[in-house]
Amino acid sequence: MDQTKQLYAWEDAWSSWNAASCTLSECRRFVRMACKSYKVPVPSVTMHKHTEYSYFSPDDNKIALRHDQRNVPIALHEASHAILWHYYRDTIADHGKEFVGVYLYLLTMSECAPAIALTASLRHYGIRWTRNMTPEKVLQKKKPAQEAG
Ligand SMILES: [Zn+2]
Repeated sequence: MDQTKQLYAWEDAWSSWNAASCTLSECRRFVRMACKSYKVPVPSVTMHKHTEYSYFSPDDNKIALRHDQRNVPIALHEASHAILWHYYRDTIADHGKEFVGVYLYLLTMSECAPAIALTASLRHYGIRWTRNMTPEKVLQKKKPAQEAG
């Protein structure tokens, strides 16, 4: 199920999700923490000044943050893409239930907002997520996909 539109609307509603509120090295620290806890390769994190959104590129395992989206929640959004890629490749929707499950776990652990506030507002936006996408549960169920070649 594609819930990209709902997810972007939800992120827009949190003002701190839309500001350059930390340094690039802080973003890198959170990405590293997130990827290490799920035991996937840590992507490089750079910044770009173009108008395109922040993104994760699986081809070179790289996160590029738009300069005005340099904040912990967006860093964790992109880290979630990196994590999901290593477990699911392209078998799941970009912003599907599994993605939101990991993202929600990381936002909660990093104290971006209390879980109860995050889940209440996700419901308000009609966003669904898989419960228990903790590193322990994900590692129990799946092995990270092997790199090709
Ligand atoms: Zn995304």
